[in-house]
Amino acid sequence: MNVTLEKINSEEAYRASIKGRKLEVYLLGEKVEDFTTHPIIMPSINAMAATYQLAEDEPELATVISTLTGERISRFLHFCQSTDDLVMQNKMQRKLGQITGTCFQRCVGMDAINALHSVTYEIDEAHQTDYHQRFLAFLKEMHLQNCVIGGAMTDVKGDRSQAPHQQSDPDMFVHITRRTAEGVYITGAKAHQTGTLNSHYMLVMPTMRLGAEDKDYAIIGAIPVDAEGITYIYGRQSCDTRSLEEGTMDVGNAQYGGQEVMVIFEDAFIPNEWIFMDGEYEFAAMLVDRFTAYHRRSYVCKSGVGDVIIGAAASIAEMNGVERASHIKDKLVEMTHLNETVYATGIASSYQGYATKSGCFLCDSMLSNTCKHHVTKMPYEIGRLAQDLAGGMVATMPSEQDLNHPEIGKLVRKYLQGKASIPTEDRMRMLRLIENMTLGRNAVGYLTESLHGAGSPQAQRVQIARMMQLEYKKRLAHALAGIELEADKNEVVEELGSYFERVFKAV
Ligand code: SF4
Ligand code: FE
Repeated sequence: MNVTLEKINSEEAYRASIKGRKLEVYLLGEKVEDFTTHPIIMPSINAMAATYQLAEDEPELATVISTLTGERISRFLHFCQSTDDLVMQNKMQRKLGQITGTCFQRCVGMDAINALHSVTYEIDEAHQTDYHQRFLAFLKEMHLQNCVIGGAMTDVKGDRSQAPHQQSDPDMFVHITRRTAEGVYITGAKAHQTGTLNSHYMLVMPTMRLGAEDKDYAIIGAIPVDAEGITYIYGRQSCDTRSLEEGTMDVGNAQYGGQEVMVIFEDAFIPNEWIFMDGEYEFAAMLVDRFTAYHRRSYVCKSGVGDVIIGAAASIAEMNGVERASHIKDKLVEMTHLNETVYATGIASSYQGYATKSGCFLCDSMLSNTCKHHVTKMPYEIGRLAQDLAGGMVATMPSEQDLNHPEIGKLVRKYLQGKASIPTEDRMRMLRLIENMTLGRNAVGYLTESLHGAGSPQAQRVQIARMMQLEYKKRLAHALAGIELEADKNEVVEELGSYFERVFKAV
């Protein structure tokens, strides 16, 4: 396999490592020759680079010693060997949300690694394959490089009422088109892929449960981001072209942004040694369930971003001179309560983690889905309250160019003044940050990604419905109401099921 990278040990080394690759990238209808210098893309590179910077600044939080190489590596590449490992992922995610105020893009790969550790083990057990050893060899190589792995899961899906093999265009789900003695070729597209250009490798995975006729769609494999046969089309974001203007104010957050691309595979090659599922369609559901269990509690990242927006709301209230009003304090309390609810459910999911057969720890799926379901709602309310505290100026304010204009600049400075002790420019910057996070580029990450990332709200409701154990709860009610049903006696042990069993064991 074309493994070429030196170990990436610093933020600078990371930035250097993504330069000079030949990628087919399109943005705003044009081919981008060097995406690493593009002003629209740069903030997303900075956000990914922040994960390496945190590893340097706080190694206890953002790195671990690899059990595969004995060397220090990013926590994003680690497979969890305890509940503490799961919990530390969440703490790192909150911190990075606080530093960047956006999506730092690196969690999909982390969650995919963890899911694949146990799923490959269990496929081998059922089919006498050797996927787990292949996967460990791949992961060891990734640890040696200390690189960025992106996930590639969400297919474009075509007609949602049809299974992959029933689609009128077979490419609506990524599938194998050709096989050779050396490996397989895949075709299809993955939509809204987070941070892929800023990654070194991708883990391609199926997006949903599959049936026997979907065998060619049951493919999991690793592929370098710069492999042949891949085209990337950059997803545009609200207000993205402000990055092309002069100045740093109107973008709201000049340093950091998220990144989503459409990834299109046209006969892209995956070598045998990097194939971790090929045709074992009945394990696709297990993969998706486990991946989403990890990923839906990874959305505690939004509580870190929420910390920034709460800080912005409190700051603008001060700048407006209203910080003492009781309803302002109450709104800040409400925002904090919502934000901590997201964090609490996510980290609780990690604390309820347990060992799978491979030894990799899996977090609690009920609490993870509950966390993500909160995330589909609470950031919107937090964003609404931030806009409430900001006032209408958050959406009607003159531009940085007007502020700096030789004639009207002084008028802008005079009439946008809040509290006399606060420079007008500072107040304008704070308003722009709130705009950025609730209407602009980082609203993609804070709001819409919160809604649809790691599965739209209905996907969590389906999972919660599957795990809510109504029969067990009905029996609890029957017992206290003095109702004796024969059926209740027979099913108690079975119905206790995994969730409550784990809750009580952990206590
Ligand atoms: Fe990580 Fe959050 Fe971005 Fe997903 S949305 S990659 S969990 S920062
Ligand atoms: Fe995401």
